[in-house]
Amino acid sequence: MNKPKDHLSPLSSCCRLERVKLLEYEAKQLLADAGVLVPVSSLVQTSEALSLPLPVVLKSQVPIGGRGKLGGVQIIEQVAELADAVEALLVLDIKGYLPTVLLAEEKLLIQHEHYLALRIDRIEGVVQLMAHPKGGVEIETHTSGFFTRTFEPDQVEAIASQLALSWGYEETLPATLLQYLLTDLYDCFVANDATLLEINPLIYTTEGTFIAGDCKMELDDNAAFRHDWQFEAKSTETNFVTLDLAGTIATIANGAGLAMATVDAVADSGLVPANFLDIGGGSDIKSLLLAFERLMGFTHLQGIIINIVAGISRCDEIARAIIAAQAHIPTLPPLYIRLAGTNYEEAMELLTDAGIATLPTLEDCIIEAQEAHHL
Ligand code: GDP
Ligand code: MN
Repeated sequence: MNKPKDHLSPLSSCCRLERVKLLEYEAKQLLADAGVLVPVSSLVQTSEALSLPLPVVLKSQVPIGGRGKLGGVQIIEQVAELADAVEALLVLDIKGYLPTVLLAEEKLLIQHEHYLALRIDRIEGVVQLMAHPKGGVEIETHTSGFFTRTFEPDQVEAIASQLALSWGYEETLPATLLQYLLTDLYDCFVANDATLLEINPLIYTTEGTFIAGDCKMELDDNAAFRHDWQFEAKSTETNFVTLDLAGTIATIANGAGLAMATVDAVADSGLVPANFLDIGGGSDIKSLLLAFERLMGFTHLQGIIINIVAGISRCDEIARAIIAAQAHIPTLPPLYIRLAGTNYEEAMELLTDAGIATLPTLEDCIIEAQEAHHL
């Protein structure tokens, strides 16, 4: 077979492949734009904001799969469960990621759950279709039963009927149903310069429709110049990193450079840093409080080092968050705080009134933390 290989030849080391990983809700928006059915949904950041009738499925929007098994997907049947579930999901760490938002979706009536994916096969220079009759959270455990073939758009009719057979539909499915779905998926894949589009599960409802229950999508960053991509996925990926679950010192800093320097200084001193956290500029009290609560997931903490050089962010905001954390988190370990920059005086006043001490440099924070460790 002759295939156009030139522009998709195997990637050599000369070419850097960057992938833009989308969050589920971002990927589903692209699916919907392409005509693929997705559940009726709304984004949720507080429990008051739900505009959907119950029951709903609440899903943590982190850029990683396996959420179902880690408690990141919750079915809410009663109004009374909602507030607690939203609050719990917003601080639930999933493999080192925290969501900034949750996706609430209508709960679908499931007849079958399939696996369906399109991806670029770089060796052959083609788009490949991969499917399995049994999708869902156990997909990694399937070692056989995959249907794999090259996806040629002009063969979509034949591919659709092969797929229907491999999924066990025999003659029961309207012939065009899968055909339209595959065409829309392929168009979505190409139009967005995707390298991966995975739907797991693809839900066949009791009403006889296919709806994307979940979607994982990666786009080719090299094509960014021809799109207006404004996805949140990238920023969520870099601002928090779990370094050591048994770490004894947590860190909070602003700016990636300062956050890295803080982690390095902690490690160099012989203390064990638990995490990297860059709170960025302009963090509000609420997101700072969430950060503190997230750190409480580390069970061996003996201290938190806070190292802020405020520019866009403001020391008084940080101070207010620290005071709120002291008041609301009874298990908060000792804080070693170094603040500098915008609104420093106001912050000092607030902290002094609250009886919270600060230190002049990061080095002082580390020395105090070391001394406390040796007690
Ligand atoms: P993942 O674990 O990160 O891949 O998250 P998914 O979005 O795939 O959700 C995990 C599982 O939750 C799915 O495999 C489904 O079994 C279930 N699930 C997700 N959405 C719905 C829904 O709308 N209704 C029902 N009943 N189950 C759902
Ligand atoms: Mn999934």
